Order: sequence, then structure tokens, then C-alpha cells
Amino acid sequence: MTICHDSQLMILLVDDAPTNIQVLNETLKDDYRLFFATSGAEALRMVTQAPPDLVILDVIMPDMDGYEVCRALKANAQVQDIPIIFVTSMRQQEDEVVGLELGAVDYITKPFNPAVVRLRVRNQIELKRQRDLLARLSNLDGLTGIPNRRALDTCTDREWRRCQRSRKPISLLMADIDHFKSYNDTYGHLAGDDCLKAVSASLLQTLERPGDLLARYGGEEFVALLPETDAAGAQLVASKMLQAVANLGVPHAGALTEAHITVSIGVATLQPGRTTSSANLLEAADQALYQAKVEGRNRISIWSPPLDRHA
Ligand SMILES: [Mg+2]
Repeated sequence: MTICHDSQLMILLVDDAPTNIQVLNETLKDDYRLFFATSGAEALRMVTQAPPDLVILDVIMPDMDGYEVCRALKANAQVQDIPIIFVTSMRQQEDEVVGLELGAVDYITKPFNPAVVRLRVRNQIELKRQRDLLARLSNLDGLTGIPNRRALDTCTDREWRRCQRSRKPISLLMADIDHFKSYNDTYGHLAGDDCLKAVSASLLQTLERPGDLLARYGGEEFVALLPETDAAGAQLVASKMLQAVANLGVPHAGALTEAHITVSIGVATLQPGRTTSSANLLEAADQALYQAKVEGRNRISIWSPPLDRHA
């Protein structure tokens, strides 16, 4: 870990006494990006607008004290994981229990000992970085670097509910590499891994809106989640994907369809309502994908509701 690496990390200093802020600023300014608030209300506003990596919070403040600020932050799911270090004076040591019970991670005492302040801050920043890294890694596919199935499930659920509220359709594309088992048998598993990475990168290029998500669903299966996208929009993306993978021109001598790597894509579009869930969307795309395989691969199949649902 290098010190210059820390310079992008943000710390919010909250204290009603400007002299305290000045001292902490002098102590930490070389290693972190510092922001300041002189009241609890201002601190809450700043944290929600631009969440910092750490909050250093004075306990005794007029109007809204540090405990109240801490309670408010811990009650907000968006910011509750940001570590809080309380600032207290030597006389208030019994208050440390209160703060720790509220979820603070540590204390620093006035008058400040710069070496101690730097160490305690560095410890908490390092712990947070480890947590963030773990959270990110556990949501990414190790081979391709795109979101994994766990991340997709979370995202599908959230976007489904969002489209339900906004009464917009949501689409999901399920793409599967054709004859991939025979590709691995012919070229070996290392080449198979390279193929997965190339296909994943080419699929990713076809998504243009920031809300769209591409995930590795399993083995050679990829899913694109397209919130607020109707059937026509989804088919357009699916056509681009089919073309993008073909354009890679990855040779596949064992394929029965083409001499290069191709994909089959199932497309499903649903209007989230009370009677359906996000699982129905995946199920529908999976059925369409199966249809595309049955019809000869290297093609798109569009899911349509069974006729009996209209009865
Ligand atoms: Mg104070």
C-alpha cells in the first residue's frame, strides 16, 4: 500500500470548532481528500450528496450532536456502511461506549496526537478498502470481469420493481455460445477461456445505455438486462449481438452451423405487473433461447406468451 494511493480517498471532518478542523486538516491533508462540515445538518447533507470513505465526527455540537448524526447515517441504507470515527475529549471517555453501540468504529481524543490520528484513520480506511474490494469481487465473474449471476439477480430484481413503478417494459436477452463443448474439445480449455472473454467483450460493446447490464450467467451463457426497453429495442440489441460475435471470426472447425463461433439468443420483454415476477423474465428468455437452439442455432428467437394466457 502506498500513501499516494490514498490521496483519492475522501474523508469528511465534522466539528463545530474550526480550530479542531484546522488541526485535523493539517494532520491528514497530505494523505486524503478532505471535506469539512461545521454542523450535523450540513454533515448529513454532504454525506448523502457525495458519500465519503470515512467520517470523523465530533460528539459535542450545538443543535444536532454527533450521536444524532451517527444515528441518522446508520438509519440510511445508502450510507450506513461508511465508517465513523468519533472525536471526544479526554473527559468524555464514558461516552465511548455510547458511540460504539451506535456503530462507530473508533474514537480519537482531544487534544489530538497526530501520529495516533493518522494510524487510526489509516486502519479504518484500509479495512473499508478490503470490504469494498471483497464486495466487488464477489459480484464479478473471475474470468471475464463482468458481473456474475449473483449481481444479475440483485439487479434484475431492482430493475423489475423500478419498471413496475414507472410502468415501463423490461427486456432480457439470454445468449449462449453454439457448440461450445465441441470448441473446448477441439481447441482445449485455455482457448475456451479466451473465446469466452472475446465473446463477453463483443457483447458488452453492443450495449450503449448506462442502465443496461451484461452478466455471465453460467458456463457459456450470457444475459443482458435492458430496463425500460420494449420488444423492438430488445430485438435491435439482439441483432447487434449476433453480428458482433460473428464479426469476431473466431474459427470453430467443430461447429456444424458455421466455421466460426456463433451465439443463439432468446429475447423476452415483459411489462412488470402484479401477477408476474422477475423470475418469469428469465424463464421466458430461457424458453426463447431453447427455441433458437431447436430452430438451428446462430439466430434470435423472441418469446411470446402462450395462447392460453389470453383465454
Ligand atoms: Mg464540539
